[in-house]
Amino acid sequence: MSKLRARLNKGDSWLTRDISTFFTADKLTPDALDEIETRLLLADAGVDATEWLMERLRNEVNAGRVKSPQQLRAVLKAALLELLAPIAQPLKMPAFIKPFILFVAGVNGVGKTTTIGKLAARYKGEGKRVLLAAGDTFRAAAVQQLQTWADRTGVPLLEQGEGADAASVIYDAVQSAKARDFDLVIADTAGRLHTQGHLMEELRKIKRVVQKHDPYAPHEVLLVVDATTGGNALIQAVQFHEAIGLTGLVITKLDGTAKGGILLAIARRLSLPVRFIGLGEAVDDLQPFDAEAYVDALIG
Ligand code: GDP
Repeated sequence: MSKLRARLNKGDSWLTRDISTFFTADKLTPDALDEIETRLLLADAGVDATEWLMERLRNEVNAGRVKSPQQLRAVLKAALLELLAPIAQPLKMPAFIKPFILFVAGVNGVGKTTTIGKLAARYKGEGKRVLLAAGDTFRAAAVQQLQTWADRTGVPLLEQGEGADAASVIYDAVQSAKARDFDLVIADTAGRLHTQGHLMEELRKIKRVVQKHDPYAPHEVLLVVDATTGGNALIQAVQFHEAIGLTGLVITKLDGTAKGGILLAIARRLSLPVRFIGLGEAVDDLQPFDAEAYVDALIG
């Protein structure tokens, strides 16, 4: 069993759990389609993505092209892939963009700091010189937590403490990266939810300030969302995208959640690339999102 499948199956997982019973049975049971539909909805795939998928399945069944559980599996797999493949686009960092400036946004608790630590380790491992910028200056704990990840991964962190101006921290980090020949700046940003208007304004200001260094910066704006929050993850993605213009998503905590369908809802609603998925708390538990591997892991 692949690690991905093992992780997705860890909890009371959605499509994965027992779905093979539909596909290994001798005959297609009349309620198989209804059961799949219920599972999709329970997994927070959302009405839109669920209807889209079910229409494909029903069309094939009604046209007489699906007679066995194995054929149903093949049709489901193709439909899931058709939905997910377009959003599975890896994050590319062309060498001529230096430093590559990557913003990481997300509301508190979604796994933003952990994701930054995992990204720092990944890119350092690829031989890049990485600098972290502590732009979440609103919470004292945020800077501290990031420092812990910086120490753990051996990546330097530029910080000015709690209450500092986030735009100035990130501006300084980019300046320092330019002067010291860094390849990549990963900038943390505030994640407080209760003053969301201010948060969006602050993010826009950080963007403007960084564009003084490079008019094309930031080169990537990633939003981290937590799969276990289901529909809220989709709402956050829509709101942040409207406010600051995202270029990619990271979906965390897909290990063992029953809400993994959120990826399908996101694929239907937003054509934003999913760059990475989080499958645990350890440093190597962040994988580039690979639609085929994901679908295989889901339906076995
Ligand atoms: P932040 O407030 O958004 O910076 O969130 P943190 O990075 O502090 O993460 C919040 C909690 O979620 C921590 O306990 C992390 O270890 C945990 N976490 C982060 N990513 C994942 C993941 O992919 N899977 C699981 N199971 N836990 C995660």
